[in-house]
Parts: sequence; C-alpha cells; structure tokens
Amino acid sequence: MKETPKSDAFALEIREEFPTFSIEKKRDSRLQRAIGTFLYLVTLGGQRVYLTRYHTVLFGKLWVPDAWDQMADVDRYILLRHERVHLRQRRRMGDVGMALYYLLPFFPLFLAYGRARIEWEAYEETILATAEELGMPAAEALEDYLVNRYVGPDYGWMWPFPKTIRRWFREALERTRTRVERR
Ligand SMILES: [Zn+2]
Repeated sequence: MKETPKSDAFALEIREEFPTFSIEKKRDSRLQRAIGTFLYLVTLGGQRVYLTRYHTVLFGKLWVPDAWDQMADVDRYILLRHERVHLRQRRRMGDVGMALYYLLPFFPLFLAYGRARIEWEAYEETILATAEELGMPAAEALEDYLVNRYVGPDYGWMWPFPKTIRRWFREALERTRTRVERR
C-alpha cells in the first residue's frame, strides 16, 4: 500500500483546525491573476514570480503557484508549516487585518515593519520545520535566502536592512537548536 505523503496528511491536520482551509491554484483564479499583475506593476517588475513561485494565504485558503506540482513532499510540508502560522495569525487578527496585511502590503513599499515581523513569525516556523525534517545544516543554509526575501522586491523591499535580518536569523537559529536538541 502506498503511504500518504506527509504534506497531504499535514494538510488534513490543518483542515481539522481550520475547516474552510483548502489548497487552490492561483492560475485558476481571476483575482489571484489580477493581484499578480498588480504586484508586478507596483514593484516595477521586481515581483514577477507571484503566479509561478509564490505561495499566499488569503481568506483562509492557500493559493499555490505553478511550481507546487513539482515540489518535493518535504518541501510542501515545510511550506505548510509556514502557512499554518499565517492561518493562526488570521484567527488572531481577523480577515480585515490579514487582508490589509496581504493586499496593501505594498503601501508603503519600503519599511513595512509590521509585515516584516508578521512574516518573520512564519519564517521562524520554516526554520524549525527545516531543521526537524532536513537537519540543522539545512536550516543554517536558509540565511541568505531569507535575507534576500526581506531586502528584495518579493515583498516590496519590506525591511531592507540585511544586518537586522541576519540578527533575527541568528536568534531564531539558537531557539531552533535548543528545541531540536531537546527532542
Ligand atoms: Zn509567509
């Protein structure tokens, strides 16, 4: 018998916590395609991968890009761990709060500290899930990728201070190490 992929099992677990959760393709949604075009324009072409590589939680659903079908099970699982944090944030902040966070994040384009911290909470979970699934070296290797997310156009240059991100990263890595070693 074929084993259920870990990411599928985890998606069901998320659905127990959030019954309206589902995974939808961005490409099939007119709104998501419109957001993709909008982000491309306001970032002057900097955010060009919204539909192809970028995952977004909006109104309790996970919108996946074209790359989803090619992702390894473990990568999907780690991503779902990250997105579950956003679902919990939505419960905490409400739809209006989350919509403001997701749809207006590009105003202002720069120095969006609130978004930077909200996203960081989810990235801490990415770091932890990566350490658990793939080991500490894999988690350590995320540093440059995460720094680029913050200082680049993906999220509209939300916190373009690499030193700060590297400090957050080191602190998160320490917490992760403690948690992984305790298991
Ligand atoms: Zn996120």
